Parts: sequence; structure tokens; C-alpha cells
Amino acid sequence: MVLQEKLDSFKRQKEEIKSFKDLGLCDELVEACDSLGWKTPTQIQVEAVPHALEGKDLIAHAQTGSGKTGAFALPILNALLDFHSKQGYKSAPIFFALVLSPTRELAIQIASQFEALGSGIGLKCAVLVGGENLMQQQIALGKRPQIIVASPGRLVDHLNNTKGFSLHMLKYLVLDEADKLLDVDFEKALDDILNVIPRDRHTYLFSASMTRNVKKLKRACLRNPVLIESSSKYCTVDTLKQQLFFKPAKLKDCCLVYILTEMSGCTSMVFTRTCYATRLLSLMLQNLNIRAIPISGQMTQPMRIRALNKFKSGECSVLVCTDVASRGLDIPAVDMVINYDIPQDPRVYIHRVGRTARAGKSGFAISLSTSSLSSRVTSFVFFITGKTLSEYDAQEEQVWLLFERVTESKRLSLKKLKEIGGTKKRRGGDEDDEDIERYLGVKGKRSKLGKRE
Ligand code: AMP
Repeated sequence: MVLQEKLDSFKRQKEEIKSFKDLGLCDELVEACDSLGWKTPTQIQVEAVPHALEGKDLIAHAQTGSGKTGAFALPILNALLDFHSKQGYKSAPIFFALVLSPTRELAIQIASQFEALGSGIGLKCAVLVGGENLMQQQIALGKRPQIIVASPGRLVDHLNNTKGFSLHMLKYLVLDEADKLLDVDFEKALDDILNVIPRDRHTYLFSASMTRNVKKLKRACLRNPVLIESSSKYCTVDTLKQQLFFKPAKLKDCCLVYILTEMSGCTSMVFTRTCYATRLLSLMLQNLNIRAIPISGQMTQPMRIRALNKFKSGECSVLVCTDVASRGLDIPAVDMVINYDIPQDPRVYIHRVGRTARAGKSGFAISLSTSSLSSRVTSFVFFITGKTLSEYDAQEEQVWLLFERVTESKRLSLKKLKEIGGTKKRRGGDEDDEDIERYLGVKGKRSKLGKRE
């Protein structure tokens, strides 16, 4: 068959897939999708699931919000059910699949999707992430779960210290946000894991962005993987309106308040560069009666979960975050992403704005920019996505009207942070994180923070 014919036939095949049943999934899973309100498979599910069901390894580029968790969870659960029907439930395998995630929140989210899809089949899932009670996780492992979702470091802890725990039965390995997991930060832990799991397994790599490291892993661990690019490597969805709010630097905070006030019915995520800024801006916004809450990597795990829950439940409408929240977190109904600080790396921009306009919904991404930055944002957005940014429509005089109130609110917030964190002369950017660590109780003032959170 010549290439064009092959492509046409592949296209026809995809067009014929209209339902989860067409993907080749068993009835239990078709019902599970239906009960979650998943009417038709998403593009990544259409492209990945049939290959996975054929037993192929996968490298899948899938943008956030594309339904990628389902794309790897469904074939794994299908294989598990297949095993059950052939061998009976009594001989059900334990530790059937391992999903690794670079962040704790994402791990929790992945596990909840597995649990939702597997609720009708008695699926057991253990989440092994740092910052949570080790003993409780050991108890969860003792319940013989079929699925483990883990961050690499904590999994290695359990492999070394939890009596009787081994992954020699593992059949599936998934690296979600694979490019991140292949960073040097995770190199040692990942090697330790790869050394103790069976080579005879299925391996899936999923990521919105792929690095050369993934290719390295492809050589090392995958067996004739199918490469799936359900979207161009970095792209944003058409339902996302991307804009630039271009004003002088001293009006930056006013611009933020202006947008949040104009769009007051929206749920928003505001991205900043430092942990300190998340705290400072949240306080500033709270002083202006905007329901904001911070989340950053410097917060303890229970605090991060609490912040996320307050945001998800609608108690807070603005989540001020560092890039800890830019990857993989599925926070439904985020209407708007604001880049308070513009990221250096274009890929980070794509991850951030991928928090909105998910699963076919519309959304806004607004980047606050000063003259020196605007060309960087517009050019990298255009370079990556082929889309141009329009300018956010606001009269400068209207923004200036906010100046006094916002400046006063920021001054009070700075004062408050200093009182809580101990007065410290900030000498530069790195000092920010030290301040916030102290404020967060990492350096010994936990009780104060506990009350505030
Ligand atoms: P993910 O990209 O895996 O983070 O998924 C993003 C969101 O899409 C999650 O809330 C899923 O529950 C939802 N989702 C996944 N697959 C489908 C589908 N086929 N139809 C509708 N929603 C879906």
C-alpha cells in the first residue's frame, strides 16, 4: 500500500471510531465511561487505546486536558479485566500497573480517575507520594492494590523499606509528564525503579512536551513503541482566547486587580515566578476582597491539598500559584489563566494556559506584559502555536484609578508577611523563597501558618 493509501485508510479508521465500544474496550469499561459522562472518546483516546489494546508500547504527545489519563488507564483496566475473566478474581494480580508522576497532586488526580473508572470492578489503588504518612501508605500496600500511582522518590523509599513490597509482578509502567520525570532531578530514583521492575512489561510515556531525554528512554526501555502525536507538540486549543495586557511595569498589580474585577464571575489561576509572590499577591488580593489562595512547592502537602480543595470547592475563586500547578493538575472549570510573571520557557507557557479551556470548554489566558517582555511573549506564542495574541482591551486611565488602593493593599501585605516571617532584608530573588519558607513553617513556625491556612 502506498503511503497516501495508508494515511487515507488510517483516517477512515479514525473516523469510524465514534464510541468507547468502537475502541475495543470491554462492556464494563464502556459502562464506566458512560457513568462518568464521557460520551465519546477524545482524540488521544482514539489514537492511543487501540494500539495499547494490541499490546504496543506508546510514546504519546498529548496536551493537558486532552483526556490522556483515560488514554492510558482504559487499556490497563481492560487488560486487568481480561486477566480476571481468564484466571478468575481469586488469582487477581497485585501491583499490576505502576503510574509515575512528577508531582504529588497529579498522582492523586490520576489515582482518582483510575478509581472512578474502576469503581464497578472493585479496583484498588494505592497512592505513594512524599509528604504523606508512610505507615498509611504501607497499610494501603498491604491491601494488595492492582494499581500504584507514585512519585519516584517515595516509591523508592517503599521499595527499600516496606517489608514484602516488590514490583516483580508488574505488567504496565506509565510515565505521566514523562519529560519532567526524565529530568536530572528524578534520574537516580527512576534508575532505581527501572532496575527492579520486569523488563517484560508494557511501557507508556505520556507528556504534553517531549525532550531528547524521552528518546533516550525510548532506546533503553521501550519495545517498538508507537509514536502518537494527537496534537502538534506544543499547541493550544482553539477555544482558548490568548491576550496580552500591555501596560507600564508600575501598573502590573493594578492590571491584575483590574482583570480579576472585570471578570469577577470567573475562576482564575494566577501564575507567579516565586513562592513568595504567591503569598504576597494572595494577601494583597484578599485585602481587596478578592477570594485568593496561594499554592506553591514550598507549602507542606496537607496545605497544598487544602488550598486546592478550597479552590475546587469554589470557596476561593483565585489560585495564585507557581509552576507547581502548571502541569497535569485537573482543576475543572478554570475560566482564566493569568501570567502575572511571564515564563522564560515557552513550554511552561503552554502548560500553564492548558489549565483552562479543557475538554472542549472555552477559556482565557492573559499575560501581563511590560514593553521589554511583550515581544518575547508574542513571538514565542506565535512560534509555538502559530497564533497571534490580541491586546486585552482596557483604558489606561481606568487602570490608574485602582493605583492608590492597590498600592496600599500591597504595602499592608508586605508588612504582614514581614511580621510573620520575621523582618529580613531582602537582597534579591532567592531571598524570597527563604522568607516564605519561614512563613510557611518549614523553618519552625508551623503553628502560625497552620492557623492562617
Ligand atoms: P486529563 O487530560 O487526563 O487530565 O483529563 C482532563 C479531563 O477530561 C478530566 O476531567 C477527565 O475526566 C475528562 N475526560 C477524559 N476523557 C473524557 C472523555 N472521553 N469525554 C469527556 N471528558 C473526558
